[in-house]
Amino acid sequence: MSRGVAVETVEVYEDPLDLMDEIDALKRDRDVTILAHYYVDGEVQDVADFTGDSLKLARDATRVQTSTILFSGVHFMAETAKMLNPDKTVLLPDLLAGCSLAESCTAEALETRQDQLRAQGLDFQTVAYINTSAAVKSLCDWIVTSGNAREVIEDKVPSEKDILFVPDRHLGRYLQEVTGREMILWPGSCMVHEVFSLQDLNRARRNNPDAVVISHPECPRNILEVSDFIGGTEAMRREVVSVEAPTTFLVATEANMIHALEQSAPRHSFVPVPGIMASTGETCACNRCPHMALNTLAAVRDCLRDGTPEITWQPFFESAREVVTRSLLE
Ligand code: SF4
Repeated sequence: MSRGVAVETVEVYEDPLDLMDEIDALKRDRDVTILAHYYVDGEVQDVADFTGDSLKLARDATRVQTSTILFSGVHFMAETAKMLNPDKTVLLPDLLAGCSLAESCTAEALETRQDQLRAQGLDFQTVAYINTSAAVKSLCDWIVTSGNAREVIEDKVPSEKDILFVPDRHLGRYLQEVTGREMILWPGSCMVHEVFSLQDLNRARRNNPDAVVISHPECPRNILEVSDFIGGTEAMRREVVSVEAPTTFLVATEANMIHALEQSAPRHSFVPVPGIMASTGETCACNRCPHMALNTLAAVRDCLRDGTPEITWQPFFESAREVVTRSLLE
């Protein structure tokens, strides 16, 4: 009988400061601009030329002057950068950096649902949160972010039309409340925002009685109901900047957002709201997005050095770009 040999993978430690220097040099050498989402590690945000939420980064992507964009975020964000910059090379450090929310709504499933609703005689428009694949975007009438969703729904979706909102049911329910429009909701949710625990949030409030709770609208209703401020990541950042007196904020969104908040308003304290593990009911650090976490400094350096993985142009990017442009850029 042969005996298996266990092979241990040893990760070589690389000093973050050395990696940051390497990244700076490679960026200049390879003519690259780095865009980083607020949910990637703080040290990756620090080497980026632009940081922001999905809306800000989509707009920033149209202003890039270099021949290459490295998108430190997840797949649908890099696809958006590519569709807005067909002639540029767009790199993503790890093609496996997906999004549980985007994956809950495939193009095939959306087409089937749209056909069903049409067969029922419904006159509707499809509004998609930006956390969707380019293939899904190409099937939609409007793309929204948490930063502009209310405005798009109120100003652009004709009042006589029904609305199919995909894929985040929590954001969709919140938008129903703030716009007063009934919507058919897709049953998707974000694995990070879904797990915030009201019990732990209440405990954190008891420990910080003067704290202000700021939450992302992707959170479930019970979290939003006890929040003092609800908004996307860029709106959160603007909100804490606008508060003059040093304040403690309890933050219910991906924990790396705290880096961007600390950079923007260092006079405040920021406490992440803990999540709760669905399988065991235990408090966990699951308010970190595992997809965003694939954007390590080493992965960014390797991607710059090797010029891969690259987002390649797909035929449906053309129609997706039209929807993104009229929704977010006009
Ligand atoms: Fe997707 Fe949630 Fe991760 Fe954002 S935090 S990329 S919505 S899984």
